[in-house]
Amino acid sequence: MFDLKGKKALVTGSTQGIGFEIAKTFALKGATVFVNGASSSAKCKEASEKIPGSIPVHADLSSDEGIESLYNITKDVDILVLNASYQHKAKWDMTTEENLNRTMSLNFESPLKLIKKYSPSMKKKGYGRILAIGSVNQHQTHKMLSAYSASKCALASLIRNIAKDLAPFGITVNILSPGAIETPRNEADLSDDKFKAEVIASIPCGRIGTPSDISPAALLLCSDEGAYITGSDLIIDGGMCL
Ligand code: NAD
Repeated sequence: MFDLKGKKALVTGSTQGIGFEIAKTFALKGATVFVNGASSSAKCKEASEKIPGSIPVHADLSSDEGIESLYNITKDVDILVLNASYQHKAKWDMTTEENLNRTMSLNFESPLKLIKKYSPSMKKKGYGRILAIGSVNQHQTHKMLSAYSASKCALASLIRNIAKDLAPFGITVNILSPGAIETPRNEADLSDDKFKAEVIASIPCGRIGTPSDISPAALLLCSDEGAYITGSDLIIDGGMCL
């Protein structure tokens, strides 16, 4: 079960954190994985060296040129995981135009452009798996993350619409929404013991998640066995939003 041999998978933002773990899991299941990140080609190479058979692709997906250069290297894929995102913490009335643009550009526009780019070959083939990574913040409020949360809500809505359209072509389109997960993104915040204790207290399962709490579900949604799951928003948050 969950064999990905012969499949080509692109995981955006996979040099660290949740994306890295998903990329590693897919590679272990036999997929050829493209490891993408925006910070530097050295960082992509370093991450890719830890994932057998993977190919590093340095590209900033908030620009059309970045998307084009990514596609020129990967060409068509069977599995597309839209994981890269931008998060800026600010109260709603302190959100600057620049932050709003960056947020919407990477979290909403880029996934749409990537799906437009990669889905035609999936349609031709009659097979494809598209998985977006959302957030528990689509389902609850967070006083410092209103623009980020709104961008993920927009992404979730897009995913549902596209899922309906692509289902007749053997393509599933889902969104997976993590709760608080320990990754380099929130390392600094979680190093504050008081803050960490508050976060843990808000999670019924009693702990912060890890990327390996997310990757098995990503594998299910991107596998042949996940063929009948489409348009879903799978929340993996230890009960945080209950
Ligand atoms: P992270 O910040 O640790 O890693 C982000 C990755 O995205 C890196 O590989 C980075 O190089 C890449 N990236 C950033 N900007 C990019 C760009 N413009 N183009 C291409 N790649 C870019 O992130 P994470 O914590 O692992 O989060 C992964 C996903 O999960 C994100 O979509 C995030 O919104 C979501 N999420 C995370 C948490 C959490 O607690 N960590 C909670 C809910 C949702």
